[in-house]
Order: sequence, then structure tokens, then C-alpha cells
Amino acid sequence: LIILASACSNEAKVEPKKTDEVKLTTDENKVYIGFVLDTLQQERWYKDKELFEEKITELGGNVKTLAANGSESVQLAQAKLLIEEGVDVLVVVPYNADAAAEIVELAHKANTKVISYDRLIKNADVDYYISFDNLKVGELQANEVLKHTTNGNFAYIGGAETDNNAVLFREGAMKVLQPQIDQGKINLVYDKYTDNWDPAIAEKNMLEALEQTSGEIDAVISANDGNAGGVVKALATNGLDGNIPVSGQDAELDAVKRIVAGKQTMTVYKPINLLAETAAEMAMKVAQNEEIETNNAVNNGKIDVPSYLLEPETVTKENIDSTIIKDNYLTQEEIYGN
Ligand code: BGC
Repeated sequence: LIILASACSNEAKVEPKKTDEVKLTTDENKVYIGFVLDTLQQERWYKDKELFEEKITELGGNVKTLAANGSESVQLAQAKLLIEEGVDVLVVVPYNADAAAEIVELAHKANTKVISYDRLIKNADVDYYISFDNLKVGELQANEVLKHTTNGNFAYIGGAETDNNAVLFREGAMKVLQPQIDQGKINLVYDKYTDNWDPAIAEKNMLEALEQTSGEIDAVISANDGNAGGVVKALATNGLDGNIPVSGQDAELDAVKRIVAGKQTMTVYKPINLLAETAAEMAMKVAQNEEIETNNAVNNGKIDVPSYLLEPETVTKENIDSTIIKDNYLTQEEIYGN
């Protein structure tokens, strides 16, 4: 019941679309792929879901997607359900990088292969990992912010610590900031992860940062667009929105509008169509024991996971057209209203 309830839950801030309904599969001859998502509460994951499902269908497979709405136990139950239903391959966006190791164990007991999607499952015999270069995401964020402010008080508003990506984003950003910190140019006055990637918590943390420094913050590295939304609200409360650089990630519509309005400096665009489609092709091949193309190996604490990493891209006011609009990720009309 919990599983179905969460699959159909409309708690999500973005209204679930019809495709969230659980599809039952009966065709025994078709490859059957299970896709478990952490959440559908952020815009990007809808794109992942739709594009992944479309591609699997196009390649002749069946697919069922379940989203755990940020619950570790619901995700485990959903994975179990799909394994029991006999999926050939389980594709997982882990809510908790460490806890999801149990999913891999269960899947392997049933001879089901596991692909870690976008986020790496730690300390487990994951079969494949497909994602973006997440260290680079953090580097792009810090580099762009540094173009606007080279010294002063910086705040880092991170992602969820349970998400390995959040750790990598921070690591990438710090790689860029550390030399400036060492030279005394930058003072990292606030540095916190954001539980569950919750924008409301990001806002609360940003308010705390402003309070602790009497409003003396010169730049904010925010790990994604959801958090940037919270950060900009907190800045607005203090009359500072638009005055200091703020980073983001995901090229969400609201964020791109904030960039146009000068309230957010940049976002990191990750072509989700490439990720979802390549992952779908990978899953179909894994199911049929075909050779898999990888371009990397990422250690997850237990093994070097054969990986396929894609390139993220900086988007500022200047290149919205030549990146996200060109790729039809968002339309001109959605962004500019004409
Ligand atoms: C993804 C980001 C996303 C975040 C929150 C991360 O693992 O890579 O694109 O913004 O999760 O959902």
C-alpha cells in the first residue's frame, strides 16, 4: 500500500502527470526495466522519468518507474517490489548513497543487475554507473561566481549529505575556492549541507548565514537551483537579492527566469535527454547481455564501477539561447514569455 501510495502521491510540488500511474506488464517476452527514483519533487526528475520511459519503450522494452519521495524505507520497498516482479535490470537514483547498497545486494541475489543513475550507490557491487562529471559541476559553479566576486565572505549552501553528488559538488567547488581561501582573499563564513535538498531548509540556512554575519555575505555557492530559490528568497528578505552572485544547477525554469531577472548568476545545464537515453540504452543492453560502452571508472568505496560520465555546462544570461533553448530543454516562450 505504501508503495502504491507513494507512486501515486500528489505531495510533489510539481503535479504528477498521468505517466506516474503504475503500468503493469504482462508481456513475458519483453525486456522489463525497473526505474526507482528518489523523488519527483524537483522539476528535473520528471524529465529523467519521461525521457527514460520513452527510450525504453522505443527500444522495445517495458518499464515501471516508482518514486520514493525522499524516503529510504519506501525506496527499499519499491526496489524489492520490482525485483520480485522480475525486472531484468534495476536502474536506481539512490535517496541515500550508503543505504542503497542493500538494494544492490537484494537485486544480485535475484540475478538482477543494477545501474546507478545520476547518483552513485556507495560500498556495493554496482554493475554500472551513469552520470555527469559531478566534480566539474562544483568547479563550474565556483568559477562562475569568482568571475563576479574574487574576495570577501562566501557562503556554501550544499545539497543533501546523503547524496554522493552533493559531496562531489562541494569537493569540486572547494578545489576552486581553496587557493583563494589560503591566500586570505575568501573567507568561507558559512558551509552547510541541506537536508533532503529541501529549498525551505536552504532558505533557513541562508537566513542563518546572513544573521551570523550581520548581512555581510559577498557571494553564495548554491549547489542547485532548488536551493538557489531558497537562497534568493532569504537575500530578498534582507534586501540583497540581485546584489551578490548566486550559483545553481539543473536549468530549472524558475532559475533561468531568475538569471534573466539578474537574481541568480548561473546554473549548470546537464542535458538530461542524453543521460536518460544513454541510460535506457545501457539498461536494455545489460538486460540482453550485450557489450556496454563506458568512458570512466568511479570508485564507490568498494569497487571501481564501470561508468559513463557526461559533460555539464555553465549557463549564464549570455548563453541561454545557445544551450538550453537550442536543445529545446526549455523554450524561448517559457523563459521570456514570448
Ligand atoms: C542531482 C541534481 C539535483 C539534486 C536534487 C542531485 O543528485 O544531480 O541534479 O538537483 O540531486 O534532486
